[in-house]
Amino acid sequence: MFTEDIKILFNHGKQFIPDVTKATVPAPFRGRPEISTEKVDEKALLDCCPTDAITANPVTINLAKCTFCGECAMAFPNKIKFTNDHKIASNDLKNLLIAEGSSAPILLNPDLIRKEIQSIFGSSLKLRQVSAGGDNSAEQELGAIGNVNFDVGRYGIEFVASPRHADGIVITGPISENMAAATKIAYEAVPDPKMVVLSGVDAISGGIFSGSPALNRSFLNEVNIDLYVPGNPPHPLTFINGILELTRTKFRRQ
Ligand code: SF4
Repeated sequence: MFTEDIKILFNHGKQFIPDVTKATVPAPFRGRPEISTEKVDEKALLDCCPTDAITANPVTINLAKCTFCGECAMAFPNKIKFTNDHKIASNDLKNLLIAEGSSAPILLNPDLIRKEIQSIFGSSLKLRQVSAGGDNSAEQELGAIGNVNFDVGRYGIEFVASPRHADGIVITGPISENMAAATKIAYEAVPDPKMVVLSGVDAISGGIFSGSPALNRSFLNEVNIDLYVPGNPPHPLTFINGILELTRTKFRRQ
């Protein structure tokens, strides 16, 4: 019996990722885009984007609006490609603007990180997840961060059931009118100091629902957003690395 267990362990190998900061995601995963300086029909390029994430002069993709559908890369393969760089979270919306000719990594803006984020949440962080009209995709990926593969609990990070036991909220979904009040109540129930993370394009900008009268995103104007995690849905490694870089200097890239 014991020999059988050893055999299983040997064949399975390590089920956890030893170092999430160095882990890579193979294609066809779509991460940070790169835009070449090749001349293309810019109107056609802008028109192919369902969320108006692409703007001209210079051609720029706004990851706060991008659903990573890949339409632009399929229609203009010499102009746009998506790398497998999954470290695309930032606390600065300006850093989510990817201009043509740039292959720079997406970083956090250290000047926007509040002091208490690291001093209080640097070794233990409890989060309450609020699905504000989400489609369960971003929510599922957030559920995955605690599984045996990603095991975010090793960093003292976990989701808790009550906002009263949390250090902050993670909002997914575009914030529908029906969830607007509940989202605010959940935020107010978190004791100070607290943080707010927007996970997924729907939470960051409304995504494909942007501008819909069924949304009520006014709550976001009242609070400080500590981290934006692009993706549709964001990969667990995008979320984990974003949180680690936000809360711990030793993980922060320069
Ligand atoms: S991948 Fe992003 S930028 Fe490209 S068409 Fe889709 S939403 Fe627009």
